[in-house]
Amino acid sequence: MAAMVLDGAALAAKIRARVREEVAELGEIGLATVLVGEDPASQTYIRLKHQAADEAGIRAVDKRLPEDTTEEKLLEVVEELDADDAIDGILVQTPLPAHIEEARVMRAIDPMKDVDGLHPFNAGQLFFGEPTMVPATPLGIMELLHEHGISVEGAHAVVVGRSLIVGRPVAMLLLHENATVTICHSRTADLARHTLDADILVVAVGQAGVVSADMVKAGAAVLDVGMNRTEAGLVGDVDPGAAAHAAFMTPVPGGVGPMTIAMLLGNAVRAARYRRRILAFPRLRR
Ligand code: NAP
Repeated sequence: MAAMVLDGAALAAKIRARVREEVAELGEIGLATVLVGEDPASQTYIRLKHQAADEAGIRAVDKRLPEDTTEEKLLEVVEELDADDAIDGILVQTPLPAHIEEARVMRAIDPMKDVDGLHPFNAGQLFFGEPTMVPATPLGIMELLHEHGISVEGAHAVVVGRSLIVGRPVAMLLLHENATVTICHSRTADLARHTLDADILVVAVGQAGVVSADMVKAGAAVLDVGMNRTEAGLVGDVDPGAAAHAAFMTPVPGGVGPMTIAMLLGNAVRAARYRRRILAFPRLRR
């Protein structure tokens, strides 16, 4: 039987409607994005984030800096946003140009405005099992699992990819919900041996077809994070043929992508609540 489609667009629309109501209650919320350079994919992501913020009633501030911006200049911009009381959330779009040390920039963001969850304070909170500001894509993946009643506790979750923004944080969230987690990466020997044992398979690599249909266990839940622009259009990392025997599968596009944007807006609302003393601390609750 064909997999049930994990419709991220539909769930994201529900979450965004809720965010809109929350924003209306809170009054003005400010979300600043910083883009350095002109990477086309990053420009698209920034445009989509701004569109979604506008629709939710969030005031989005769009800072654009040229490719040759120095690290010091970028740090100044971040520090200004940290100090700006009208800004509740700050997102510095990655990847940054090679001459800028990403980790240093992330450390400069006020952790309580860090809507991308990349400040080491927030990464530490997640590691400790106290998820606070968590990257939006992993949050979106967990929402999709919860919404469809996919059981995480006791499941074998295999995460392919170990990036700071997707692979590692989603592995932590799955672990905190009592999955048994395997993390695979480019040096994993015999990837198929691991993926074939996955009840929940999250793939965040950025290579079309890195997981072929015969690498997916029958009855698995497949969350395909990959976004690869090919001649055939936008495709994921998993061969769509896996839907023939998986139990659940996200489409690309329309799966994890829209959830990322919705959860980012949710992070901005949580940051705003904390900054207005409505929340004692912006820890995530289930
Ligand atoms: P990334 O930072 O480039 O990380 C890719 C990961 O894949 C690395 O850990 C790498 O291993 C691993 N990898 C590379 N080749 C592999 C192979 N042959 N087998 C197993 N693992 C392999 O990427 P990312 O930022 O996590 O993004 C991954 C993909 O998701 C991209 O297509 C990106 O566009 C997409 N994405 C989508 C969303 C969304 O909202 N849908 C959000 C974020 C990212 P090493 O660590 O060993 O190098």
